[in-house]
Amino acid sequence: MLVHKGIIMVRITLIHKSKDGLYFEFFIEDGDVHIMNAIRRAMLSETVTLAIHDVYINQNTSVMPDEVLAQRLGLIPLRIDSSELNLLEEVGAVEPDLRRLYKLTARLRLKKANLETDPNSMKIVTVYSGDLVSVDKKTLRPVYDNIPIVKLGANQEVDIECVAKVGRGKDHAKFSPVSVVAYKIMPKIIVNENCNSCGECVDACPHNCLTMELGKPVLKGLGLYDCDLCRICVRHCPEKALEIEPNNKDFIFRIKLVGQLTIDEILDQVEVIFDRKLDFLVEKIEEAIENYVKESTEE
Ligand code: SF4
Ligand code: SF4
Repeated sequence: MLVHKGIIMVRITLIHKSKDGLYFEFFIEDGDVHIMNAIRRAMLSETVTLAIHDVYINQNTSVMPDEVLAQRLGLIPLRIDSSELNLLEEVGAVEPDLRRLYKLTARLRLKKANLETDPNSMKIVTVYSGDLVSVDKKTLRPVYDNIPIVKLGANQEVDIECVAKVGRGKDHAKFSPVSVVAYKIMPKIIVNENCNSCGECVDACPHNCLTMELGKPVLKGLGLYDCDLCRICVRHCPEKALEIEPNNKDFIFRIKLVGQLTIDEILDQVEVIFDRKLDFLVEKIEEAIENYVKESTEE
């Protein structure tokens, strides 16, 4: 359940969690479209993570240009324990100052060579994200060790120093801790008195969402879940007796994590972001009222 000073009060149920802990589906009741969208946007673009930002190439004799190599390194998701870098503190900054945030850095090194000396040899060495070694932080590591970065032929090598910095998804997508964050609004079915129980709407639904109950079409169980509000059933009703619309209060919220942050860490950050934004809003409203009162008394 997510509550902010009594302003938001919704019921949240976890309905699905993938085995790898990276995909979640929540059922949210008595919510509001604006709040759902604010949560979605906060998760996508306001949360704070660490990603490679500066790349110093000491040696690159691979066929890949330096710029492409640097871009690839920037997109490798990194994870660091909060004991070494407390991202929750950073996310609460009132006015995000990138110069300040970018002081929070960590250094990594990537050094690998193909020692084969015969230029006609077909031996290839692949450099993976797992070859990145943290220089100054014990718990800093790539989320996945098996992301290929570059292939090295005979006598080729890379020697690269990287600086990872703290940033937000709105600065660059590489900082975003979610690859998917979306919500679906639950449907509401309205059947008027013209319904003659013909069942044509049930047959027309491409997802088999509708069933007949007491002579009327209803959305129940999985039907409620699967309905995508396409309204094909509405168009097939010969009596114009059926209406399906979003109920604008219940939602299925889907989140796919990249892996830099756990779902708990993301939700903690979202709570801090909401607190900061609401405090900022209240401050601005109070300022505006104060100015208005001052101007009125001066007149
Ligand atoms: S709106 Fe589309 S998915 Fe939903 S019940 Fe009607 S036909 Fe099926
Ligand atoms: S198609 Fe229309 S009239 Fe027929 S069962 Fe559905 S709502 Fe009722």
